[in-house]
Amino acid sequence: MRYPEHIERLMQFFRKLPGVGAKSAERFCFELLQWPEAKIQEFTSLIEDLPRKISACPSCGALFQEEICHFCTSSERNAQQICLVATPKELFLIEATGQFKGLYHVLGGLLSPFAGRNTLNLEPLLRRIKDLNIKELIIAFDGTLEGDASAFYIKEQLKGIPLQISRLAFGMPAGSLLEFAGEGSIAQSLTHRREL
Ligand SMILES: [Zn+2]
Repeated sequence: MRYPEHIERLMQFFRKLPGVGAKSAERFCFELLQWPEAKIQEFTSLIEDLPRKISACPSCGALFQEEICHFCTSSERNAQQICLVATPKELFLIEATGQFKGLYHVLGGLLSPFAGRNTLNLEPLLRRIKDLNIKELIIAFDGTLEGDASAFYIKEQLKGIPLQISRLAFGMPAGSLLEFAGEGSIAQSLTHRREL
């Protein structure tokens, strides 16, 4: 063991975070060792409170800290459009463009034949489309194999429902991830969304 056990264990946790390798984990630990205790406590309590303070809306799946989801309850949003995203993270990416004023729906994941995920639970989405009388569904998935397969699957499953289905038109090569697209690109691909 190279470092005291406590440091080794902390490093193991940092390494569980996306994009963090051994070197970064090491750097994080030694940076934290320099921090005053009050700052460490603020940091740890933010992490500790995360599951209690942040909830997912039972209706749309967006994350919120207040009592109610402001996407679902705002009267200023276009209640005839739903933007369908894979995870809450993409919801915030779309929202940051300021170009979309409709409702959201978080699917919770995409089809992934490699991970053995061959179906999607579309029941909650279908219910909302019917109950809210949604006119347009904008699919905002990554431009990957999983994103393409999921968009196709959803289009097939929603056949027969009077609904316009469109997908973000990425001005980027295939394989593009929303996460790495700038706000400008996402805003453009929303404007130029193409019907599926
Ligand atoms: Zn909501």
